[in-house]
Order: sequence, then C-alpha cells, then structure tokens
Amino acid sequence: MSSSIESAIPTDPEAIEYITKDLKLDDLAIPPLLAKKLYPDYISDKKKFICPTDNCGAPITCRSILLTSKNRPTFVNQSIVVNKHIEGCKHNPNYREKEDVQDTTIENFYSQINSNDTVSDLSAKKGFLSNEAPKKTTNREHVSTGDTSETTTRNVSITKGKTQTRVTNQHLKSLQDHAELYKYNPEFLLGTRYARNKIPIKYIFKTIKRNIFFNQLTSQKYASIYYGNAKLSQPENEVVIRVQFLSPIPINDQTDKAWPALIISKSYFEDEYPDILAAFEDGAEIIFEAFITLPFIFNGEYLNFSSFSENIVINPFDEELFNNFYIRTKN
Ligand SMILES: [Zn+2]
Repeated sequence: MSSSIESAIPTDPEAIEYITKDLKLDDLAIPPLLAKKLYPDYISDKKKFICPTDNCGAPITCRSILLTSKNRPTFVNQSIVVNKHIEGCKHNPNYREKEDVQDTTIENFYSQINSNDTVSDLSAKKGFLSNEAPKKTTNREHVSTGDTSETTTRNVSITKGKTQTRVTNQHLKSLQDHAELYKYNPEFLLGTRYARNKIPIKYIFKTIKRNIFFNQLTSQKYASIYYGNAKLSQPENEVVIRVQFLSPIPINDQTDKAWPALIISKSYFEDEYPDILAAFEDGAEIIFEAFITLPFIFNGEYLNFSSFSENIVINPFDEELFNNFYIRTKN
C-alpha cells in the first residue's frame, strides 16, 4: 500500500520564490492547506504540483483548492490510472511497506478530534447545512473558529464563584468530516441532536439500500448518512455529470429494481474530484465510495435524490447537494 500525499512541491516560480524568500522555509514541499492559501496569487493552477520524493516529480493535483471549495484541500495523483512515481517512491501504488506509512495528514487531523465533546451538526430533516451561517451564541461565550479545520471549537467559560469551568464543544459540521472520521474510527463516540447519550459514529452510517423516500422524512427520528459504491456514467450534457450507485433498490412493491443516481455540476466535480473526472474522461471506470444524506425520489422510471425542503429532484448546481454528497477514493 502506498502512502497518501501529505505534501507536494509547487512548480510555479512565484510559489517557489514566496516559499523560500518570504516564508523562509527550507523544504519546498508544502501541505495542502498552505497550497490553498497560496492560490491563486502564487500558485496558478491546481495541477501545478509534483511529488516531493527525491528524483520522482510525478504530477500531483490539489483537490478542493478554491476558496469556495466544500472539502478540505488534498493532494492526489494527477492520474489515477497511470502510475508516474519512480520505483521506491512511497507514493508509488506498488510501494511495499518498508516503514510505517499509515501516518497521513488526514489521519493526523482526525486523530486530534476529541471524543469527549464532539457534537454532530447533522439534522435528520435538513441534512448538512452550509458552513457559512455562523452559529448564534449567547453572552459569555467566546467563539473561535480555527482556520485549519472545518470544525468549530466553542470555548465557554462559566464563572462559578472563583471556579472557572471550561466546556469545549467541537462541532462536526461537514459530510466529509463525518465520513472520514467514521473511516478513521467507526467506534468514535459522538454527541447528536437527537440522542441524550453519545453514540458510536458507525450507527449514523447505513448502506444506500436503506435510504428513505421524501415522504418518510417526517417520521424520521434519527439522522443517517447513506453510502455505497458508485461510478460516473455518461454525461447528460457538457455542464453536468451523472453519479450512479451500484446497488439496485427494489421499487414498485419489490417487483422492479432501480439504480439510484444523481446529476451534479461538472465544474463542482472538477474542483473537488478532478482526478476522478480526468480518469472517467480518459475512459477508465473508477469505482468510488459515495456518501449522501438526501432522500430518494422516484418518478416511475428513475430513482434520484430529492431536496430536503421539497419533494423535487435536487438541482445539480444547488449548495444543498454539495453539502450533502461526498465521495472517497481508496489510495
Ligand atoms: Zn513520487
């Protein structure tokens, strides 16, 4: 198994100059969060990176580099299909573990999330909302939002006589955070909006076959995230692409089956999952794991996903879709 790419070297001369002269860093290999900060002023394109291993130089892409991106920035291989790493590079897919290569950026991030006071922001009837609306806080609360993560740390200082009690709530806000934390530690104990006691995060995740329809939402007590293997399929037109789940769902009193699918903005996909899109456009069939919170909608022919607010097929360009859909590829 190869190691994930926790840093990469930018190829724009402006970026190299900024890193060495202004930031005075010895190492040209930078983490994805710094890459995002240097874009677009010093880094001109998400594909302007190479592998940091000596003499390798395999082309690397930074996913989710835009300021408006939903997911955390991540380095991935520019090509999923063709390996460009030299033999012996720890990012080479054929690399055999000679040392411990499990210690990746994403795992470091999730290993820092504390189980004691982490609360899920997932709503059973609304899914994940955009991160943009700040939470209302009562007085005495000091709010600090770390810019290195998508979770919000809320520090509340309560004065009881002379004793200072410090309560910290971390809000797990995005679908990406839920999916990655679940993969990192399925037993992670998480606070929710609907249960008094914490539950292992794995209880929130269900296979796509167990997803419900829009009209069942009102009776839905618990929030769930549905997952399943999926692939890209034929584009409907130039501006959208289709994501097709591979699990058939019984419909019409179990006599027929339909494959759940959604149509999503191609430019959104190009920003968040450029490597998957590139492989698809090169004719490769890439199977990935897709996560979604939106309910099903069936029009008699196609099984799609509905908005939470109305029983209509989710708009391919809607923020509600971007907030409630995430895909994950195996390294
Ligand atoms: Zn390499």
